[in-house]
Amino acid sequence: MIKRAIKGFTTAMTGLGLTLRHLFASNAKREVVPITSDNYFEKLEGTNTIQYPKQKLPIPEVGRYQLDVEIDDCIVCDLCAKICPVDCITIESIKTTDPAGIGQTSDGTTKRLYAAQFDIDMAKCMYCGLCTIVCPTECIVMTNQYDRTVFELSNLTYEFSDMSPEEAAEKRALLEKQQAEKQAAKLAAMQKKEGGA
Ligand code: SF4
Ligand code: SF4
Repeated sequence: MIKRAIKGFTTAMTGLGLTLRHLFASNAKREVVPITSDNYFEKLEGTNTIQYPKQKLPIPEVGRYQLDVEIDDCIVCDLCAKICPVDCITIESIKTTDPAGIGQTSDGTTKRLYAAQFDIDMAKCMYCGLCTIVCPTECIVMTNQYDRTVFELSNLTYEFSDMSPEEAAEKRALLEKQQAEKQAAKLAAMQKKEGGA
């Protein structure tokens, strides 16, 4: 009987000690450390109580979270949309009628296409990061932003194009006009050639 009481008391004390250890550890502040740090995965203390959003768990520097696009550096090559395994990037390009292009990206690449639409549906994204790997101008990147709570699913579609529908319509009309003129000139040249033969 006495043995059982002693065992019960010892067990209770062990449990209490464990609880107290975690209670005090839960107040410990975690510092953000890079994933390359030797003790990254040993930093388990203090994880049972997080006063979010005042306190946040450390996230790896190489983490894949919200995508962002620096549209001024985008050449609208469509590679990111083509490689995306879940088709969550929708791009509409419009070729410029200006032979000199429409400007340059920060790495000096000439831009020849307008991005009339550049949408990413983050609700579908599987965060594989493939789009960021293929981008020739490195303008589509994974950020460290992970808390993007929304109430409507449609709000997870992010629009990166900086063109208004009116501007896009104007550029489309200019391109159609130029293509019609080129076609007419080509036809006239062929007819002239046939007439001369
Ligand atoms: S991270 Fe992957 S799934 Fe998400 S948009 Fe890029 S390629 Fe598509
Ligand atoms: S791969 Fe890069 S440059 Fe090409 S369309 Fe996508 S974001 Fe733009």
